[in-house]
Amino acid sequence: MITRNFGIPVTSPGAILRRERDLGTPLGQETAEVLQSGGLVSDKIIIELIEDWLRLHGGHGFVFDGFPRTLPQAESLNSILKRLRTALDLVIWLEVSEETVRDRIAGRLQCGECGFTTSSSSAQFANRAVCPYCDGPLARRNDDDLGVLQTRLQEFRSKTEPLASFYKELSILRRTDGNRDREAVFSDISQLIEDKSSR
Ligand SMILES: [Zn+2]
Repeated sequence: MITRNFGIPVTSPGAILRRERDLGTPLGQETAEVLQSGGLVSDKIIIELIEDWLRLHGGHGFVFDGFPRTLPQAESLNSILKRLRTALDLVIWLEVSEETVRDRIAGRLQCGECGFTTSSSSAQFANRAVCPYCDGPLARRNDDDLGVLQTRLQEFRSKTEPLASFYKELSILRRTDGNRDREAVFSDISQLIEDKSSR
């Protein structure tokens, strides 16, 4: 929605890794195996991929979705941006309750072919779950088991939460309530982007 409304390219480590896998690069195959077995891709690899992506697509603005997630990632991103002579204008912090996370994970479906993600409540399925873009099979994601939720929440508190004060000190952090529906959240995000770009 951000790309459509503002013409700014958006990416996430997940999207970059899926593309590497689809292109069949050695790195893509390696990381696909790591992810399949439930592991996490190292910061070093993610940072390298983000830097490559920025050099290709980041010339006229960019948005990262779900990145950085750790302090070391944020620090590496800062040095990349310094090398590219640019800086972050805005960090949007979506605040969601544990209950919201639980509900969304339980209802999330992903296309096995193209990676399109939707929720079982917003998708209208006659008999079988198929992707509206490529007819691929929609299924719950492997990493979505509620069983791993506690571990993820703990990781969030210990590794991601410190980013809030890191970006607050740089005076670019804005918080918004992510427990509402997509439209309400997107309208807030749009406003924040507009406020920044009109200055
Ligand atoms: Zn698809």
